Amino acid sequence: MSYQGIIHRYKQFLPISEKTPIVTLNEGNTPLIYSSYLSKIIGNGYRVYLKFEGVNPTGSFKDRGMTVAISKALEEKATAVMCASTGNTSASAAAYAAKAGLCCFVLIPNGHIALGKLSQAMIHGAEVLAVEGNFDDALKLVREITSEYPITLVNSLNPYRIEGQKTGSFEICDELNQAPDFHAIPVGNAGNITAYWKGYQEYFSHGKINFLPKMLGFQAEGAAPIVRGYPIANPQTIATAIRIGNPASWEQAEKARNESGGLIEMVSDQEIISAYQQLASKDGIFAEPASCASVAGIIKLSLQGYFKKNKPKKESPTIVCVLTGHGLKDPDCALQTIGKPKVVVAEKKAILKEIGY
Ligand SMILES: *Cc1c(COP(=O)(O)O)cnc(C)c1O
Repeated sequence: MSYQGIIHRYKQFLPISEKTPIVTLNEGNTPLIYSSYLSKIIGNGYRVYLKFEGVNPTGSFKDRGMTVAISKALEEKATAVMCASTGNTSASAAAYAAKAGLCCFVLIPNGHIALGKLSQAMIHGAEVLAVEGNFDDALKLVREITSEYPITLVNSLNPYRIEGQKTGSFEICDELNQAPDFHAIPVGNAGNITAYWKGYQEYFSHGKINFLPKMLGFQAEGAAPIVRGYPIANPQTIATAIRIGNPASWEQAEKARNESGGLIEMVSDQEIISAYQQLASKDGIFAEPASCASVAGIIKLSLQGYFKKNKPKKESPTIVCVLTGHGLKDPDCALQTIGKPKVVVAEKKAILKEIGY
């Protein structure tokens, strides 16, 4: 039968019963793309793969968690859902709530959300409120309201979100026929690193893989509470999806790092933008800035000799970088980085002159 989404494919690993009404947009099954460009940069025989989550139905990995969270909300007879969002959670919640016939309320930090994401939440019919505060302020409000009123919280504090998102690691292992040696991932509210680590551990305990990857998490320098060891009151970064100062899954992220023998590091906005441009111009992949923190991170580690020093005893160790969202979410960022096209007169001669013929 044709592909029907992550719940259908990985039902045995998910909290789903016969009674669960499955709400799906056929999310998941995203490509794991080999990058010869990055493999060459990292060197030492490593093979680098990109898990491109930007091709999910609403353009980010949030859809994996949302299909489970919304299906369970429907099963539990909810009528409304709510989230705080840097953008992608709201886009995903709005789309899945629309399909399920649920009301969707969204709180976003005013002025710090990419236009593509905002337009998605609006067109899918969510009630969007722009809060005069940051993501952490918005999440605090959502937690209060959903604990007092019959509204289901669909941020990654909702355990069903983590359950759905762990299927990303299942797909990687199914495709490689083994775990990768290193798993690089951007860290914002830290739900996704928690989910991937849970997925790898479950596959390991089921004997589907026989070792676990080292988890490499990357925060943006201006929003790096876990790296610095304290919450950031006023987080700043161009990568709005990880502009978070007090991650909800802070402890679980540290647990993933410690148990796997990995690390959580930070990358500057300049390093993020450089990775963003390299991915687009060398690998043909347009991923949103926050996504590129994983690639910026491995480039940075490689310059410090990390992969050489920590090379597993095998010929071709693997590194998987998760690219969490699509570049089209934030087209302004691309044009601000690269510039706009030159305007020419509509004459063959003028065009040939410009292109050097
Ligand atoms: C949500 C999001 C992140 C951060 O994921 P967390 O689970 O909050 O750590 C990173 N990149 C993109 C594109 C996102 O949408």
